[in-house]
Amino acid sequence: MKSVNELRRRNKRRRIYNNIKIFITIVILILISNKLISNYLNGSLPSNTAVAMAYEEESADSGKIKVILDPGHGGHDDGASFGDIYEKDIVLSISNKVGEILEANDIEVIYTRTDDSALGDDEKEDLKNRVSISNSTDAEYFVSFHINDYDEDIYGYEEVYGFEVWTNYNDYKSLNLGKSIEEKLEDLDYTECRPMIDGSEALYIIRENENPSVLIEFGFMNNYNDRMYFSNEYNQELLANAVATSIIENININ
Ligand SMILES: [Zn+2]
Repeated sequence: MKSVNELRRRNKRRRIYNNIKIFITIVILILISNKLISNYLNGSLPSNTAVAMAYEEESADSGKIKVILDPGHGGHDDGASFGDIYEKDIVLSISNKVGEILEANDIEVIYTRTDDSALGDDEKEDLKNRVSISNSTDAEYFVSFHINDYDEDIYGYEEVYGFEVWTNYNDYKSLNLGKSIEEKLEDLDYTECRPMIDGSEALYIIRENENPSVLIEFGFMNNYNDRMYFSNEYNQELLANAVATSIIENININ
């Protein structure tokens, strides 16, 4: 038989042991919840959750009319340049301005780029990615922005200038938008209007595009007057306004 004292001592030890167990459990729970909270705050959600969220974002359709804006070049690819004036910067600025006007008119704008980055390591990959952005969306229009230059070895030092609109002669929506942009740019009277060109065979970005598409060369980097015009911020707004107005008018006709 055990003495009463011995039983008491044993009970006391058991209580202390139980209290220690509870304490350790609480500490472990606090450590686990802290880890979960810090993971959450750092954004390191379990990967399947992150993928599902990205998919949901991508597949959410606003139901609005969509237009894809494509400022050419970017990143390592400056495009045409003169001193520290780069085609990639001018076309990005114009594209963003066109986008602002379209968005203010309840049109959803999808940009192939909104900052100074290329869409591929080389030109082929870059153009392929631009076209696949377009072909993954059912858009009203795809409009690409560029600044021209000419090879002085071929053309000599003769002055070449003017804006130029490329479109798809096999597609009436592309053709109508091209004509409309051409007229509105002509109204600005800043340079020559060069003949419209069919890009349905010659231009990858138009040929492979499943959306009605137009490519605009706003003028020549080599030409002083053209360059002075499109490198000025106020004039970029005029150019953007001409393009955006054409797009909106054509959407209203369609
Ligand atoms: Zn270009």
